[in-house]
Amino acid sequence: MTQTEALRLALEALKKCQSALAEELSAWDIDPPLHHILESHDLCGPAIAACEAALEAKDERVECWCHKCNKNELVNGIPFAMTRMILCPNCGNKRCPKASDHTLQCTNSNKPNQDGSVYTTQPQRKPLTDEEIDQICGDVGYGYINVARAIEAKLKEKNS
Ligand SMILES: [Zn+2]
Ligand SMILES: [Zn+2]
Repeated sequence: MTQTEALRLALEALKKCQSALAEELSAWDIDPPLHHILESHDLCGPAIAACEAALEAKDERVECWCHKCNKNELVNGIPFAMTRMILCPNCGNKRCPKASDHTLQCTNSNKPNQDGSVYTTQPQRKPLTDEEIDQICGDVGYGYINVARAIEAKLKEKNS
């Protein structure tokens, strides 16, 4: 039996115990409730939460499809994301934020630039117009290094 299977068994048992004890507590409608039953019942909650968290953490590492969980994952030396198309399990869209990070909401959309998606396009770089280049050449006068530097500075200014 693997650890995961053991955890699943324990989880199932704990849930049964918890509901049985809860039933018992409500059947014995006395105040204060039978302390050993109450105590056992109250121990189940955190134990169930811990088992579920442990199972989830395991599943994520082994089975999660998303970009985030597989960021450093290599398949035969190739990044995981290059070996397959990562799609949202709900809507099947690669640009859905859930495909990039399983903790994000599925948007049921394949639109680019959604918040949290790895599929975002950089804002377009604005090129210089012919007029601007003309202007720079006119202002700088001569010397190709000066012209080149002036163009660089103007581009930076336009794109910052
Ligand atoms: Zn994930
Ligand atoms: Zn989706």
